[in-house]
Amino acid sequence: MSQVFVTADVYLALSTYALATEKEEVLAMLMGTTSADQQTVTVSHCLFCQRKDKRRDRVEISGEQLSAAISFAERTETSVVGWAHSHPHITVLPSHVDLRCQRDQQMLSEAFIGLILSVFNDFGGVQRCQFIAFRTVADGSELIRMEVPVYIQPTNKTTGIKSASLEQLYRVPQIFLQEEKEAFEKAIQNQNQSQKGKEGHGDKLVAAHYGGVYMRNLTSVLDKLCVPLVESVSSRHERNVAEIAHLKHELSLLQSK
Ligand SMILES: [Zn+2]
Repeated sequence: MSQVFVTADVYLALSTYALATEKEEVLAMLMGTTSADQQTVTVSHCLFCQRKDKRRDRVEISGEQLSAAISFAERTETSVVGWAHSHPHITVLPSHVDLRCQRDQQMLSEAFIGLILSVFNDFGGVQRCQFIAFRTVADGSELIRMEVPVYIQPTNKTTGIKSASLEQLYRVPQIFLQEEKEAFEKAIQNQNQSQKGKEGHGDKLVAAHYGGVYMRNLTSVLDKLCVPLVESVSSRHERNVAEIAHLKHELSLLQSK
């Protein structure tokens, strides 16, 4: 493997997803094509995944996520070529868990690549976004990373941002809301099980607490993600409308000459 190309719209989708949360790592599967000699991978589509475990450095690909990626690849006539995840506030380099996960995937599919986006990482008061592509090589019993040059490919001017990438972008709030819902339901279920056969009102207080936490987290997603998303799309629309009016005016001036 000597190089990786990522289309600009996939990069836009991945970086937006990574920047959507400062606290947790996000995960996406990558689809695209591989050259016949297996030297070049082109990533043309991505599929954002819901996380089952939000603890730090627990990003791993589940069988369920892999099969969702395979059926997505079939629909888009591509193949699964890799995975991407974010490293909020930490270095862009892969952890031991990342190297192991990457090695396991390489065993299943030879030309598989890993992408990492480091976001909100502090460099003397300045935050930088960093982006790498890597593979795992075994040196005896030790796993080491091999970095692969990664290039961002300009989007086709006539088609602009592909609708598949836009679809992933508007799935971001849906994924976050669904994760909160499932975490709340799981907490209530565990509570019900531990209280089985016991007397008292302790369980009602705990349930009220979980309800409060759930409500707070939903509000936070709405406030920090949905509202800014709507605002940025509306202002983009206003800019487009103004530009159309400006261009029409220019055209009429040119035609009257
Ligand atoms: Zn990682």
